[in-house]
Amino acid sequence: QQGKNNLRPRFLRCLLSTMSSTQPPRVPNLIGGSFVDSQASSHIDVINPATQEVVSQVPLTTNEEFKAAVSSAKKAFPSWRNTPITTRQRVMLKFQELIRKNMDELALSITTEQGKTLKDAHGDIFRGLEVVEHACGMATLQMGEYVPNVSNGVDTYSLREPLGVCAGICPFNFPAMIPLWMFPIAVTCGNTFVLKPSEKDPGASVMLAELAMEAGLPDGVLNIVHGTNDTVNAICDDDDIRAVSFVGSNTAGMHIYARAAAKGKRIQSNMGAKNHGVVLPDANVDATLNALLAAGFGAAGQRCMALSTVVFVGNSKSWEDKLVERAKALKVSCGTEPDADLGPVISIQAKERICRLIQSGVDDGAKLLLDGRNIVVPGYEKGNFIGPTILSGVTPDMECYKEEIFGPVLVCMEASSFDEAIDILNRNKYGNGAAIFTASGAAARKFQMEIEAGQIGINVPIPVPLPFFSFTGNKASFAGDLNFYGKAGVDFFTQIKTVTQQWKDIPTSVSLAMPTSQ
Ligand code: NAD
Repeated sequence: QQGKNNLRPRFLRCLLSTMSSTQPPRVPNLIGGSFVDSQASSHIDVINPATQEVVSQVPLTTNEEFKAAVSSAKKAFPSWRNTPITTRQRVMLKFQELIRKNMDELALSITTEQGKTLKDAHGDIFRGLEVVEHACGMATLQMGEYVPNVSNGVDTYSLREPLGVCAGICPFNFPAMIPLWMFPIAVTCGNTFVLKPSEKDPGASVMLAELAMEAGLPDGVLNIVHGTNDTVNAICDDDDIRAVSFVGSNTAGMHIYARAAAKGKRIQSNMGAKNHGVVLPDANVDATLNALLAAGFGAAGQRCMALSTVVFVGNSKSWEDKLVERAKALKVSCGTEPDADLGPVISIQAKERICRLIQSGVDDGAKLLLDGRNIVVPGYEKGNFIGPTILSGVTPDMECYKEEIFGPVLVCMEASSFDEAIDILNRNKYGNGAAIFTASGAAARKFQMEIEAGQIGINVPIPVPLPFFSFTGNKASFAGDLNFYGKAGVDFFTQIKTVTQQWKDIPTSVSLAMPTSQ
């Protein structure tokens, strides 16, 4: 037990030791390799959404501390970029091993701060871990190109070089996966990094950073600053930060995209979604209904790839009753309860917003087939719980369709033909993901060709690609050119340099004309 305890990240040990004390621990910043308490005058409570208990307090980092974090990243860059790629890869190899060893503790931190079930928290970590594994092969991912003899005795080759100091700004819904989409790729490419976790659940980021340093990441290569809008704006405005990775809502994402671009930075901005599942009458009923439940209500609907809208084509609408029956059987409880299928939503404000959108659907004429708003979870009466909720007969003009609900609410629509369903999807402003459920290869192929969403599932409800591909949101779900992880992720965190070299024995004559291939 003692040995096990020693493996625990320092921040978790600190959390556990203060659980019984009256004063919640303060979440430290990470600056220049040291975890330091902020001198901030204001802190925000990190609240367990199942109980309303204050888990910890996160600082609104001061501007001096922010500058110190950027400056330590800048100072660490020259030596880190010149560290052999094999050494950088080995840090990631050790890091993935340490994440595996600390999986249970990380999951507990996520469930405590974010609310999702422990099983789902393991999935959150695992999908991030796969990016770390991918980064272990960075030498081949970052290789340049070479064309010999482009002219007589002249060769051209390209190198992919790190940019310098990069930054990441994270949302609340994947406290481990999304930081791991960002800094492992960035630092293994040779960059240094400033991470701003979500102020709602910063614990996993701090624990991951401890593990990354234990794995051998040198001081200053990864820094963490906490905060909200002011810290984010400081990132956008800072002259030393070269690139910003953002994941979160459209309001914040488009603001960051514009503000950071005005300072000449690269930005990749993954934003909101309204993902549709199109059900054709020839689909397998059981598999489809189970997929709709898992993708609609998993993580209490707080996934950017949640399937929040079902479009029943033709007589597949008759399956709605079965969908409701199965949704009723799902267990809503605190995420640490072993039989919980879904936990609470992140905050009281989020619950209020979701309930308002459900009511707007009813007021606009949709039928409320299942209402989870008044659920009471025994033992967790103060939690922000909403049970699975199903609205039927929803039309594209309704607010509950136009807005991203981000809660355990399935919005059901009808289309009399497959073409009409495709038209509904393509008229939606978002384009993160879309899924089709069918036994017809021809229909699946048509769907794949015509749908404008960036990630298509064919009998797969949440088609999030593994890290050898990229996360390819489209339309209002993404701003930027280079997507997260995969080849595009490496491109995002590197700059191409082309070198043209000439080694000739024979002296050349003077010519002032533009050189051409000889
Ligand atoms: P959010 O936009 O409220 O917060 C994200 C980050 O931006 C936080 O770190 C926050 O401090 C900061 N922020 C928030 N408002 C800001 C403002 N006005 N100015 C500057 N910074 C600001 O998002 P959230 O509620 O944490 O996350 C949920 C959203 O994230 C949903 O819309 C979801 O679809 C989206 N999301 C998208 C993806 C994807 O890959 N497309 C993945 C996960 C989540």
